[in-house]
Amino acid sequence: VLTIEGVWKHFRGNSVLRGIDLEVAPHEVVSLIGASGSGKSTLLRCINLLETVDDGAIYLDGDEITDPRVDADQVRKRLGMVFQAFNLFPHMTVLDNVTLAPRQVHGVAKAQAEEQAHELLKRFGLADKARAYPDQLSGGQQQRVAIIRALATQPRLMLLDEVTSALDPQLVVEVLGIIRELKESGMTMILTTHEMSFCRDISDTVCFLDGGVLLEKGPPEKIFSEPEHPRTREFLRSVL
Ligand code: ATP
Ligand code: MG
Repeated sequence: VLTIEGVWKHFRGNSVLRGIDLEVAPHEVVSLIGASGSGKSTLLRCINLLETVDDGAIYLDGDEITDPRVDADQVRKRLGMVFQAFNLFPHMTVLDNVTLAPRQVHGVAKAQAEEQAHELLKRFGLADKARAYPDQLSGGQQQRVAIIRALATQPRLMLLDEVTSALDPQLVVEVLGIIRELKESGMTMILTTHEMSFCRDISDTVCFLDGGVLLEKGPPEKIFSEPEHPRTREFLRSVL
C-alpha cells in the first residue's frame, strides 16, 4: 500500500526525519513508537502531505505522492487521518460531520452518504447519536465519531496520531476497541501511540524512532521482548 524511501525532513536546519525507509503491506498495522520529538507525527504529516519532504519519496499504491506536481487533495482523498485532538466541527451534528467529506469531496449523494453514515454509527455503537452535537458527547464518543468520519470516505490507509492521549483512561478503552475492530476488518493503518500494551497487542510491525532515525523495526514480540538496539531497550525501560 505504502512505500517510504529515504525520507528526510528538516525544520530550520534541524533534521527531524533522517532517511526513513518503511514498507506497509495491505492489511498491515504499523505502530510508530519513540520519545517525544522523535519525529512520529512529522512522518505521518509527510504521508498526508501536510508537510513536504526535503529528500526521498513516498509511494501510495505505486504512485509517487511526494512528486510536487501531485494534487495533495487527491492524495488525501485516499487517506483517513485522525489526530489526538478530535477536530469535529462543533456547529454540525454527528451525522453532518460524518457525511461532509463523502458529499463535498467525493460527490456522494446525500441519501447515500447518510445511509452509509448510519451504518457506520451503528457498527461502532453510536446509532443514537446521529443528531447530537459534538459537545453533547463524551471525549471517547467524540473520538469515535472522528474515526468514523475518517472511515466514511473508505480510505486506503488510516493514519492515527495519538488518538487516545487526550482521553481519560476509562474512555481510552472504547477508542482502542474501535481500532481493534478496524484491524479485524482488514484496514491498513499506521499509528503512533504511547499505550505500549495496546501497541504490542494490535501491531503487526513496531517501528522505533530515535531522533528522526528508524532505528529498529520488527514484530511486537521481538521489539518488546528482545530489542536489538540499546536505545530501544532504554526507551522501553522508561515507558513500560
Ligand atoms: P510526540 O511524542 O511528543 O508527539 P513526535 O515524535 O510526534 O513527538 P514530532 O511532532 O514529529 O515528534 O516532532 C519532531 C521534531 O520536529 C520536534 O523536535 C519538533 O519540535 C519539530 N517540529 C515539528 N513540527 C515543526 C514545525 N512545524 N516547525 C519546526 N519544528 C517542528
Ligand atoms: Mg506526535
